[in-house]
Amino acid sequence: MNIFDMTMSALADFLRENGENPAKAPMIFDAVYKQKIRDFSHMGFCGRVTEKLSAIDFVELKTVRRLENESAGKLLLELSDGNFCETVLMRQSFGACVCVSTQVGCNMGCKFCRSGQIKKRRNLSTGEIVGQVLAISREFNCKVYGVSVMGIGEPFDNFDAVRDFCEIITEDKGLAVGRRHVTVSTCGIVPEIYRYADSFRPTGLAISLHAPNDELRNRLMPINKKYPINEVLTAAEYYTNKTHKRVTLEYIMLSGINDDKTHAKELAEIINGRDFYVNLIPYNSTDCGFEKSSPEKISDFCSVLKENGVVATKRKEFGAELNAACGQLLSEYE
Ligand code: SAH
Repeated sequence: MNIFDMTMSALADFLRENGENPAKAPMIFDAVYKQKIRDFSHMGFCGRVTEKLSAIDFVELKTVRRLENESAGKLLLELSDGNFCETVLMRQSFGACVCVSTQVGCNMGCKFCRSGQIKKRRNLSTGEIVGQVLAISREFNCKVYGVSVMGIGEPFDNFDAVRDFCEIITEDKGLAVGRRHVTVSTCGIVPEIYRYADSFRPTGLAISLHAPNDELRNRLMPINKKYPINEVLTAAEYYTNKTHKRVTLEYIMLSGINDDKTHAKELAEIINGRDFYVNLIPYNSTDCGFEKSSPEKISDFCSVLKENGVVATKRKEFGAELNAACGQLLSEYE
């Protein structure tokens, strides 16, 4: 058993099952995440409790490569079975934000994405996702302000581990990342969007849309053949109504593919007054055969959205020079 796999309630259950007071769970969270103690015998418990807790290990991730510039950092981490995962730090003006991976490889096969070309080998465990946040905080000596679940992998293809991860990092007694500062990004697995909206205290939601019509989205993102745009947006609307949180629609700007003003108009039409927020993402060049749109194209696109009543911003670029595009570090290393 790895402590970093355990939510507060799992830890309380463990204590209860072992005849101990579950009220010790918050103290253990505080010791592990706030005081960074990695030995139960240093937490001030008596020998009997320490003995029972010794069934739980502290398994952290080993850094095998570390890249850094003024505003971004990137780690390649080794998992206990010899697989690797990537995690990224972005130093924003308001604090340090971590982008975590959820799988080794990914099966979604988006045409523009480097990770989609590395077939999924397995899901990451909760502890391995938590371990990425701890590794960033340790290697770059920072307090984590926000977390995006936007690294390699499809989070809703690993739902339970991601949900527990969100519970653990937002725990007040632990890392205490604000719920509003955690965003899970999905390519649009509709049933899981509903499940997420209905889950206990859901965190933020972003949807990788990238196209304003099914014909184009089918070509870029195979998942669209299973869950077309209107089903995805209906699920997103359900999430907003349920949680009163605004959904972000991510839109990568691909030169000559989806970046025309007519696409912007079409996007505004399908949003149709709903309370979504569009984030235009400059494409991070990879060897997938797509080019990034020019800054003028992006500005024009953004203006058309705004003229049509859509709230839209352009995402700040981080780490392009660190090869931070999903999957790039891993594919080079291997
Ligand atoms: N599978 C999830 C989360 C991982 S991808 C999802 O699809 O949302 C995180 C985001 O990065 C997605 O919006 C994805 O489409 C985008 N992305 C993938 N490759 C990219 C690249 N080369 N440049 C910019 N964004 C990219």
